[in-house]
Amino acid sequence: MTHRELDKLLALVIAQAKAIKIPVSDRICPQVRVNRRARTRFGCCIRRDGAYTIELSDLLAREGSEDAVLQVLAHEVLHTCYGCSNHGARWKGYAQRMNAAYGFHISRTDNHQALGLPDDRPVRYWVVCTRCGHKIPRMKRSPLVDHPERYRCKCGGALRVENNIER
Ligand SMILES: [Zn+2]
Ligand SMILES: [Zn+2]
Repeated sequence: MTHRELDKLLALVIAQAKAIKIPVSDRICPQVRVNRRARTRFGCCIRRDGAYTIELSDLLAREGSEDAVLQVLAHEVLHTCYGCSNHGARWKGYAQRMNAAYGFHISRTDNHQALGLPDDRPVRYWVVCTRCGHKIPRMKRSPLVDHPERYRCKCGGALRVENNIER
């Protein structure tokens, strides 16, 4: 997607929010910024001196569908509303109104699969079921990776972790 297309989609999402009386900031930079380093976050809302810049990951900007880009832009634009710097009740309420009005699926967290994007982060751990062999990729440490014995596969089998860190 070109910068011009991204900026158009941002303007559209802002207009959509305003049309249903969601009080998004009037000080959102009309240019979407593309961040080439972000690998885990798809979007980001940066506040500086009371003005806002919306940033998208390079992957989303390059390979995301229009729907996926709109959804992430909508998520970030809602962070410009008063009291919405986090994902608290106020932000959630606005997200639900956007979802109901325009068929978005804005949620607190997005993932590659839901956005239809290839997941290019390195798999560092495989959590493997010792019974059925089901393998779950994990990109970072988590309670599941640290303590597989506390969890079970859907089939009921015990889990173990294979370290996949490349040297
Ligand atoms: Zn957010
Ligand atoms: Zn299993």
